[in-house]
Amino acid sequence: MQAETTLNCDVLVIGGGATGAGVLFDLAQRGLRVILAEQNDVATGTSGRYHGLLHSGGRYAVRDPESARECIEENWIVRRIAPHTIEDTGGWFAAFPPDDPAYIPLWLEGCKAVGIPTEPVPLAQALREEPHLNPQAYAIYRVPDAACDSFELIHSLVEAAAALGGVTLTYHRVCAIEKHGGKVIGALLQNRRTGGYVRVHAHAIVNAAGPWAGEVAKLAGADIHMTHDRGVMVAMNVRWVNTIINRLATPDDGDILVPVGTVCVIGTTSVVVERPDDLDIPAREITQMLDAGEVMIPNFRKARALRAWAGVRPLYDPPQKRAGEAEGGVGEDGRFITRSFRALSHADVGAAGMLSIVGGKLTTYRQMAEKISDEVCAYLGVSAPCRTAQTPLPKPTWLGNGGRKLHALTHRLHQLEHAPTHNNLICECEIITRDQLETAIRASGEGVSLDDLRRDLRLGMGPCQAGFCGYRAAGVLGETAHLPPADSIAALATFIEERFRGNRPLLWGHQLRQALLDELIYRRALGVPTPQPEAHAAD
Ligand SMILES: Cc1cc2nc3c(=O)[nH]c(=O)nc-3n(C[C@H](O)[C@H](O)[C@H](O)COP(=O)(O)OP(=O)(O)OC[C@H]3O[C@@H](n4cnc5c(N)ncnc54)[C@H](O)[C@@H]3O)c2cc1C
Repeated sequence: MQAETTLNCDVLVIGGGATGAGVLFDLAQRGLRVILAEQNDVATGTSGRYHGLLHSGGRYAVRDPESARECIEENWIVRRIAPHTIEDTGGWFAAFPPDDPAYIPLWLEGCKAVGIPTEPVPLAQALREEPHLNPQAYAIYRVPDAACDSFELIHSLVEAAAALGGVTLTYHRVCAIEKHGGKVIGALLQNRRTGGYVRVHAHAIVNAAGPWAGEVAKLAGADIHMTHDRGVMVAMNVRWVNTIINRLATPDDGDILVPVGTVCVIGTTSVVVERPDDLDIPAREITQMLDAGEVMIPNFRKARALRAWAGVRPLYDPPQKRAGEAEGGVGEDGRFITRSFRALSHADVGAAGMLSIVGGKLTTYRQMAEKISDEVCAYLGVSAPCRTAQTPLPKPTWLGNGGRKLHALTHRLHQLEHAPTHNNLICECEIITRDQLETAIRASGEGVSLDDLRRDLRLGMGPCQAGFCGYRAAGVLGETAHLPPADSIAALATFIEERFRGNRPLLWGHQLRQALLDELIYRRALGVPTPQPEAHAAD
């Protein structure tokens, strides 16, 4: 294949999730020339579709102590190096009827063994702190869980790497890996916006493609046994709790409630699916989530279910590990598979220098990056040590508000009241001003979509789900990026359709009314067309 452009680097990283961005920064900090290729925008894979929890490790303390230990180690580090991405909600593990009391001593022992601090919370105090909690809770322990904004974390990593010369190529899909003499020498990337090709010469390649790691490994002739484990989450329009609530029971469906900004998110299910992009949301999984919410918060389902989405866990499931265990077949529960991670070399298939990092959690992204970067450096004969655990990450510079996004709604309100200029509101739910939107559009460069801006600013992620801000944002995008009117309308049509996908499984009650209103605004009043299927190519 003829490439239009050729780039040279020491290491090519494939995948712009938390892991890939972590590797980009780690290697750039060790003085290597690094390029990251991401087939969509950064944080569009599992890292942008997760539950939002910086785990204490409590969830894995009984069944998966290796992962529990990794989580608590990294929890302390991420709090230190990226405090701007964290809302320190704290977390509780709470047992409610019919949870088995026999689990409690096992859990306490497991937490102690891996160093997770636990502190009992008397029920009366718990109800003072969280008045909506089910008063039938019969045991509650505090752990250091927190909420973590993955979009902001990944942007921080990409910016920190860029300051050291690390390059991020978004909308570039790796479509071939080139080998010579038993080792990898580079890859061919397709620019998904122009259709053109870029050849990257690299001395080593890191496959950080999350649930797509098996597919990327195949490009080099390697076989990785990944299990794709889909989980569904539902955002409610009420922040029922200010503390993360986990069921104090063997991990099951819908047993974690995470407060995120103005909403709270109940999740998740765990169903093994065939493909990494199988993001279907069966109605029964929504019902499961709402029923599970009722156990923790009576009347949970009376709030409006705003949006449902799914992500696919990139679980590493080598056949020998599954001996004597249930098979992780399609449709089954993937919870028995470890959440720990592994670094794999592909020298055995004539692809020396290609390494894959698989499994893990978003919470453990930095440790995963350190492990694989150590291996890359050993292969390249580089002795620079990892310094990411000691280096604070910058706040993304172009987000305004001193780098803070929406978790601090109050910051945005403050700015709105005191900003001297040009600060009219575009998105009321998430308090995004015209100024912020224009800054983000300019910083993102050519081809930025409204969905990219959603991830950057939380545009359209509040209760109206873009009903009132979508058309304004499309206008600002058109003006700022000098788009022809037809392109602005196409951008709006694609965005509205994307927002509607997350509402479709939730069309009853108030949400149905909101959807009908949106339909009237967009299709009837504004005449926005339904986008052509190819407009979804980057989803
Ligand atoms: C439902 C659910 C809930 C979860 N909740 C939590 C939680 O609360 N806390 C927690 O710590 N973890 C959680 N996790 C796990 C966590 O989200 C993942 O472990 C983590 O995000 C994986 O990050 P990653 O960078 O490895 O993969 P990803 O984020 O998926 O990134 C991989 C990237 O590779 C790109 N890519 C693939 N193929 C190519 C190619 N050929 N060329 C270029 N790019 C390519 C993809 O587009 C993607 O962006 C959850 C996961 C799920 C599914």
